[in-house]
Amino acid sequence: MIPYGNHEALAWVAIGSNQGAVWCHIKRAMGLLQRHWRISLLRCSPWYWTEPVGVRRQPWFINGVVVVTTTLSPLPLLHLLQRIECRCGRNRHREQRWGSRPLDLDLLLYGTQGQTIIRSASLTLPHPRLHRRRFVLQPLADLAPDLIHPLRGKTVDRLLVAVDDPNSVVRVSRRRQQCDDL
Ligand code: AMP
Repeated sequence: MIPYGNHEALAWVAIGSNQGAVWCHIKRAMGLLQRHWRISLLRCSPWYWTEPVGVRRQPWFINGVVVVTTTLSPLPLLHLLQRIECRCGRNRHREQRWGSRPLDLDLLLYGTQGQTIIRSASLTLPHPRLHRRRFVLQPLADLAPDLIHPLRGKTVDRLLVAVDDPNSVVRVSRRRQQCDDL
């Protein structure tokens, strides 16, 4: 388990982009997360090229997952993620559901073991589609294979083995994975 301080929680955040300068959006989002005074970036998964779900005629996404420690509670953290999406050019009012976007940040799991469960109008935890998406489960399994989904009662690894998602997830080349390159 990753150590954390007294009032800190762990949070797993999915990052995706398929519009514009995708690597720039990702780099900017990571920088904004890293520089926030109530967040420390702990680890980042490998990056993946992922086939779009839903709307077919759009570019493939780049997807990954980061784990952070934070003193923000879940809703303020979600609001911060949404502000970062806006700063990277996302305009929710103009986009199609499941369509292209410069940046998508989803709060996947929250809590010392990712155990927090929330069902409110603006926030659902664990993220409602986490267990159904290979593009989320693969990078999450790279970081936390033994983490247990608090509603499904299964580890991330087992969810990944069992997931019924035909969409391809292809690891980005080793050279591109270098942080300097991001
Ligand atoms: P999306 O278009 O996938 O970015 O979905 C964003 C919407 O999902 C927003 O209205 C959020 O309030 C809502 N939402 C609910 N739970 C979550 C979550 N765990 N992470 C991100 N967005 C969430």
